Amino acid sequence: MRAALWYGRKDVRIENVPEPLSPEEDEVLVKIVWCGICGTDLHEYLTGPITIPAKNPHPLTKRRAPIILGHEAVGEVLEVGEKVSHCEPGDRVVFYPVIGCGGCWWCREGRPHLCSKVAFIGSSWDGGMAEYMRVPALNCYPIPPSLSSEEATLVEPFAAAVRATKRADIKPDESVMIVGSGTIGLCVLQALRARGVESVFVVEKILQRRKIAEQLGARKTFDPTISDIEQKIFQLTEGLGPQYVFECVGTAVTADFSFKIVRKGGTIVILGIFEEPAPFNYTDLVYSEKKVLGSMGGGEEFGNTIQILASPKITLEPLITKKISLSSLVEEGFEPASRHKEKHIKILVDLQK
Ligand SMILES: [Zn+2]
Ligand SMILES: [Zn+2]
Repeated sequence: MRAALWYGRKDVRIENVPEPLSPEEDEVLVKIVWCGICGTDLHEYLTGPITIPAKNPHPLTKRRAPIILGHEAVGEVLEVGEKVSHCEPGDRVVFYPVIGCGGCWWCREGRPHLCSKVAFIGSSWDGGMAEYMRVPALNCYPIPPSLSSEEATLVEPFAAAVRATKRADIKPDESVMIVGSGTIGLCVLQALRARGVESVFVVEKILQRRKIAEQLGARKTFDPTISDIEQKIFQLTEGLGPQYVFECVGTAVTADFSFKIVRKGGTIVILGIFEEPAPFNYTDLVYSEKKVLGSMGGGEEFGNTIQILASPKITLEPLITKKISLSSLVEEGFEPASRHKEKHIKILVDLQK
């Protein structure tokens, strides 16, 4: 079968590899239809290895590079192991990308994403940028007919947004600012609107992305390059600043801005992935009593997110900006996604083409 393998930074190859073996008793074999390019795939391509085991085999999966990329996949179940009961051949499924050891304190607490041996589909387990994928059945979630396969590629990033907004416990009458309106920022925006939050503001430097944010329900959007942006935001929030800020970019500048703009005593939720460490003044945290909350992935909200996305309230279409074939993944996918952010939000790879 054809698959996209990560060999190293800026070295992703489309190759013919053996098809996966028949599933073990608790596994599923899936024919992949679509796979979205995630920001994390792009980070691995541009600056990796980040979570890909490049030198030593992964402690849980024993896999190491070259490894098949991709976790925002959708496919059709072909074969299930004998102990699998929640999905069957013919079902369309999406994948929760986290694989825990099952035995440690975090896994037993139901938080496998914090497992000390955590593995991820598409970085330490062969992923969905391939014609077929074999995965633990626990990671497979069937999707209803009302959700198209293309839209379902967004379940994984949307679940991360749903979970982050739930963990922050935002009430409908509170004010929120989202910094960065790429896939995650736009998912957070819609997750907040679905929670009934009215005052959602977006800061985004790319005009096209600001327009989409407005279309999807942002009360007002801001270009961060204008000079008096902080003043303008304070004016709209009773001179106090927003109660919550979601940092969805992952740079020192945007993190700094997020910390500065959030109301004293308010909360900054960090969803951006930082390529480099960003300096932070902890004393400011003491005096301002601002809270910083990190949130990783969709976890326990994965199933719930499928129900939310199947409802007509959510609009996923504007997020999908391009569809490409596997053979052009680098030239038509990774390169334009990193160079032309004004044109692209989510690029989907067609695995059957
Ligand atoms: Zn993702
Ligand atoms: Zn564990």
